[in-house]
Amino acid sequence: MKILFCSSECFPFSKTGGLADMAYFLPKSINKLGHEIKIITPYYEQIKRYHDKMRFLGSKTIYMSHFETIVNYYEMIYENTTYIFVQNMHYFERDSLYGYHDDAERFTCFNYAILEGLELINFYPDIIHLNDWQTAILPYLLDKHYRHQSYNYFKIHILLTIHNLQYQGNFDKSVAQLFNTDFDYSYIHFDRVNFLKAGIERATKINTVSPTYSKEVMTNEFGFSLDGALKNRQNDFSGILNGIDDVVFNPKTDKMIEKNYGLKDALFGKAENKAFILEHFGLDLSTKEPLIAYVGRLADQKGISLMEFCIEEVLEYSNAKFILMGSGDQNYENFFRYLTGKYPNRVANYIGFNEKIAHLIYAGSDMFMMPSRFEPCGLGQMIAMRYGSLPIVRETGGLKDTVIPYNKYTNEGTGFTFANYDSYDLKEKLFESIHVYNNQASVWKKLVNQAMKTDYGLNKMAISYEKIYKEMLGEK
Ligand code: ADP
Repeated sequence: MKILFCSSECFPFSKTGGLADMAYFLPKSINKLGHEIKIITPYYEQIKRYHDKMRFLGSKTIYMSHFETIVNYYEMIYENTTYIFVQNMHYFERDSLYGYHDDAERFTCFNYAILEGLELINFYPDIIHLNDWQTAILPYLLDKHYRHQSYNYFKIHILLTIHNLQYQGNFDKSVAQLFNTDFDYSYIHFDRVNFLKAGIERATKINTVSPTYSKEVMTNEFGFSLDGALKNRQNDFSGILNGIDDVVFNPKTDKMIEKNYGLKDALFGKAENKAFILEHFGLDLSTKEPLIAYVGRLADQKGISLMEFCIEEVLEYSNAKFILMGSGDQNYENFFRYLTGKYPNRVANYIGFNEKIAHLIYAGSDMFMMPSRFEPCGLGQMIAMRYGSLPIVRETGGLKDTVIPYNKYTNEGTGFTFANYDSYDLKEKLFESIHVYNNQASVWKKLVNQAMKTDYGLNKMAISYEKIYKEMLGEK
């Protein structure tokens, strides 16, 4: 099978969250299953450092309404996988990946560039695998402008993976001019242009990144107004759980952490990493106390307000320490700055993005808090478990599908979970985990062991995607 994987971000070249990780892991694993897969992604400012390793393939002119612009295509082989970078200085070589007034134009250009570039890349895929709104207008453009051109386009099947339904590419109606077509309802949603809706209507199949989230998004509560559109496609809609790479996230071999460890010496290894991270952040150096961590975006989705409501009480009435890493909403950032000021020896924050420190935090922490309001899959909790940091999560989406709740009677479980979006419930679980850590060392050890052993490997995920690809092509 020939697959073109289209993503607006892709590790290690560009990353704002889990999509980038998935755009790195999945194609590699699909490759290993013997399929030909290429990744196409924008050439952002920070990708320049790889320029010498790239091969120039050619250029194309993209027309969008009265705009006309040239895109260049570069190819690079990285870890046995082929990457195609779409370069346009004006649209992509900026400080950030998203959040600009012309995002609609930028990503319409990217979608056109993918379709225009197939001949240059010399790759007419059987399947185009799209990810999130940034690539979701492609099926519309394909249907309107390309399918009739040749069998190479006509035969293409489309899988759209939704990593987060909250982000839909929702723009003013005037944006439709960029598509060079007459008015069409497939992209209209509440009188605005909605890229994701167009993708949902026109993709061959659609999936989200965990089974529970795929059911949740067909309800009013989690559907962000697209629940109806998804329900209309429910026969072609499924949930496939993400996996995490065993090489990148492996405490035994991870070069970013201070002390490598495996199942047998987990607690010892973790303590060494904890000592390092406490010193790094200028906290009280004793490693005896539990260290709670959070690594992730500071967005409402992640349940940060639940943390805000209860973390001071937890710190006041326990011996726990807390390290938070992330950036986003300024109010949240300021709250954690305030918290660090109030407990300078026990609380630290890193407002920013840093891969190495994130790994050290996973390795050195004892608990990993992730009380999300909704969570399509979530990688943080899986990485935490692999590093023996027990997740404290809300039972929603992928968090529900991956963390087995601690059972105090049988000692089963890989983390601590609660159901309601309520800071009292989070507080109770924080205190419970701190209690087990402080008073039941053998139970803690067992839970760490169980968490580290759980298999969230990529192979399972890749086989599920392969199955969907085959279904789309009518193969068994
Ligand atoms: P989302 O995709 O919603 O942001 P996920 O949990 O699926 O959340 O994925 C987040 C990924 O980004 C994880 O690999 C996490 O370790 C990483 N990450 C998040 N914030 C940071 C940060 N500030 N520094 C380094 N890595 C981060």
